[in-house]
Amino acid sequence: MLFRKILTIKLCFVIIISEVKDKVKEQFNKLKITIFETFYPGFSCDGCGIELKDNSLRLCNDCLSKLVFHNGKTCKFCGTNIKEEELVCERCKTTHYNFDFAISVCDYNELSAYLIKSFKFDGNYYVGETIANLMVKYFKERKIKADYITFVPLGEERFKDRGFNQSQVLAELISKELNIPCVDLLVKVKETPKQSLLSMKERFENLKDAFKIKEKINLKGKTIILIDDVFTTGTTLNECSLVVKKLRPEKIIAFTFAKTVKLED
Ligand SMILES: [Zn+2]
Ligand SMILES: [Zn+2]
Repeated sequence: MLFRKILTIKLCFVIIISEVKDKVKEQFNKLKITIFETFYPGFSCDGCGIELKDNSLRLCNDCLSKLVFHNGKTCKFCGTNIKEEELVCERCKTTHYNFDFAISVCDYNELSAYLIKSFKFDGNYYVGETIANLMVKYFKERKIKADYITFVPLGEERFKDRGFNQSQVLAELISKELNIPCVDLLVKVKETPKQSLLSMKERFENLKDAFKIKEKINLKGKTIILIDDVFTTGTTLNECSLVVKKLRPEKIIAFTFAKTVKLED
């Protein structure tokens, strides 16, 4: 009897501890971001750390020149840089997307990958602002009109681990700057292994039925922007768009900061 009581108490203790651990971790991540925000006013380059006189972009000219911007001729479906005489890139000639088209600010290369990592995995909120500013600048240059902004959701487990959803943070920052309302439209209902570890076919299977509508809003005749940090194969954006399509928007535009150049990246 006593043994059973001790066992029950021990079990309760283990459950409470694991609950508390998750909460503490989540709060710690948020605190880390706030501390960085407060004590790191952004007077140095987010790419290389050198001191900047003008901190409006928080990237030095050298780092800016290392980003391969998509500001020339781009593929009308996936937004990647293409040769002058083409309209569509090789991959998009045989790929179908559920979004109308995708745009991204730059190629996924060493520097853009570093910025994403710094924001997403090291929790440096100010780098998220830098990324969002570049996205806003790019969006304005493209002169695209939209009614709503939404974002790719994270699964509950990953959200707990990271303490924030990088795509949501970007979407909210962009929404504020562009004055386009941000809606929390989707929920990820299936925990899935990391997409980066899977083949193209596995990526699709992995995400099948993983997303659902969280908030039913009338999107009839509206243009909606779907935000994510990176466009790799487009599978995540495609699956999310398939779900958003049920709300009958006129147009879905996938918008990411970086896009991988080759599938193997
Ligand atoms: Zn720099
Ligand atoms: Zn393309």
